[in-house]
Amino acid sequence: MSNWGSSSALKHFQIGETIFSEGDPGEWAYIIESGRVEVAVNVDGQPFPLRILTTGDVLGEMAVMDTAPRSASAKAIEETVCVAISSHQISERVQDADPVVQLLMKTLLHRIRNTPQVTSSPHLRIPNGKAPQSPAENDQVLDKMRLESELRAALDNQQLRPHYQPLVNIHTCQVLGFEALIRWFSPTRGHVSPGEFTSIAEETSLIIPIGRQTLKQACRDLAQLQTMSPDRVLFMSINVAPRQLAEADFLAELQAIIDRYKLQASQVKLEVTERVFMEDPVALKTLQCCRQAGFHIALDDFGTGFSSLNYLTRFEVDGFKIDRAFVREIITNPRTQVLLSSMLTMAKGLGMQTVVEGIETLEQLKMLQRSGCDIGQGYLFGKPLPFREVQQLLNKELVYKPIRS
Ligand code: C2E
Ligand code: CA
Ligand code: CA
Repeated sequence: MSNWGSSSALKHFQIGETIFSEGDPGEWAYIIESGRVEVAVNVDGQPFPLRILTTGDVLGEMAVMDTAPRSASAKAIEETVCVAISSHQISERVQDADPVVQLLMKTLLHRIRNTPQVTSSPHLRIPNGKAPQSPAENDQVLDKMRLESELRAALDNQQLRPHYQPLVNIHTCQVLGFEALIRWFSPTRGHVSPGEFTSIAEETSLIIPIGRQTLKQACRDLAQLQTMSPDRVLFMSINVAPRQLAEADFLAELQAIIDRYKLQASQVKLEVTERVFMEDPVALKTLQCCRQAGFHIALDDFGTGFSSLNYLTRFEVDGFKIDRAFVREIITNPRTQVLLSSMLTMAKGLGMQTVVEGIETLEQLKMLQRSGCDIGQGYLFGKPLPFREVQQLLNKELVYKPIRS
């Protein structure tokens, strides 16, 4: 097999090359991006072709789903390029599926494997040419799997980097810290939206190595920024997903990172959404331990979720980050103004710090300065920037002057 680099999601096969053989373990499934593949079974020592698969078809998924050996072989009959989907990637999704769906899937796979077509009989007609057109939903699922494979390769190839957006004192506009926001520049796709790829990473365990890398880089960079600003203590806000917190060694690793970079725990704010209160109780326990160890916990996207506020009676957090949806309408919608100011009053009453996200205009800033919010974040003060530019920016000017329009 040519070009079988573990760091590339794309696999190339020459004409006549075997992709897998009957009896092989199911390590990979494939999405065919170009070319044609013949799937065949062995009948009395002779290959008996079952079907021909082409662009957009999925290949080799059965053995990956039920971990049984391959019941057919696959060979490229043209130069073929595939996106490889690892068995780990698929088994994780199968394990996360509803138990009823899992059972139905296993039953179906068992039935397919035991059809005469797959076992031995050459009596069935070979479906020829192109497979039926996949519906739009199938295409979406395939795109998601492709993106996930590319994201795994991007992590190996160091294509993921955090950028840093300033968080400022709402009254003085002085920089207090930064939020680390991950960026992916893919050589084939260009800039991929973090909202899109972080949600895929969070659905799978891929967020664990990505999150670990972001924590390390963000703390290392904070330590450097801190040496440049000895006059104040800067902090770094880092987004953390419930799956990361469910890892047994999350806190020990975090502690080791801050020790290595000589940071205080209070300089690291873990941003979590209220999902953490609804998902894994282990994740919530870890969060509690992090707080006891001195790390700050901020509730992100506050005001946009669907859960009750009941969890706040049982679990203490250090701050709220009010979603930018509220700031967007603060000037034009009086109801939004009331809601925003009620959230700020509630936070004050609970002794929490408030960050308001998405401040873009001076008018919004002035209104927020009057409403008693503590920290601001938004394009008015600065967009997320690569580390080098944040360094230059800190060198140049330590106090942000709002852009006057
Ligand atoms: P978030 O945590 O709510 O991050 C704030 C988002 O608002 C960022 O989008 C930021 O660039 C954007 N933003 C900040 N100020 C403004 C503004 O004034 N106007 C507008 N229109 N947008 C503003 P971004 O960087 O695209 O990130 C999207 C989401 O991706 C984040 O939302 C977060 O949920 C997720 N994410 C980013 N980095 C990480 C990470 O390292 N780990 C995890 N688990 N999620 C991450
Ligand atoms: Ca955030
Ligand atoms: Ca947010």
